[in-house]
Amino acid sequence: MPTWTLHAEFTFDAAHFIEGYDGPCSRVHGHTYRVLMKAKSHKLSPSKYLKTPEMVCDFAELKWVADDGEKGGLDHTLLNESIPVATTAERIAEYIHKVTKERIPEHIELTVTVWETETSWVEYTDKDV
Ligand SMILES: [Zn+2]
Repeated sequence: MPTWTLHAEFTFDAAHFIEGYDGPCSRVHGHTYRVLMKAKSHKLSPSKYLKTPEMVCDFAELKWVADDGEKGGLDHTLLNESIPVATTAERIAEYIHKVTKERIPEHIELTVTVWETETSWVEYTDKDV
């Protein structure tokens, strides 16, 4: 079966604290989060910018998180204010997945990986792997 997998990788800077955490992560601190978005599809679709079916989806739709907080992204925000979930890497990945799924064709299998540090990351998808 023909299969395309788009990969979009970017970083964003944000502050956060983990409410209820018994340790230093309960205090406000920052990370340069790295994010890898993987969008897998067996067919191509039209997009907002291209009327014929030549893309899995627009790369821009996979990179909204990197936009400035004042433009709808998460860059330079306090995550505890900019997202409606706990700010563990697990919940951040799940939230990015949910919002991105609303922006891309429904059949796409999306996997979101979020690095909180160079050596600590989480991968999230809503399918069994
Ligand atoms: Zn942290």
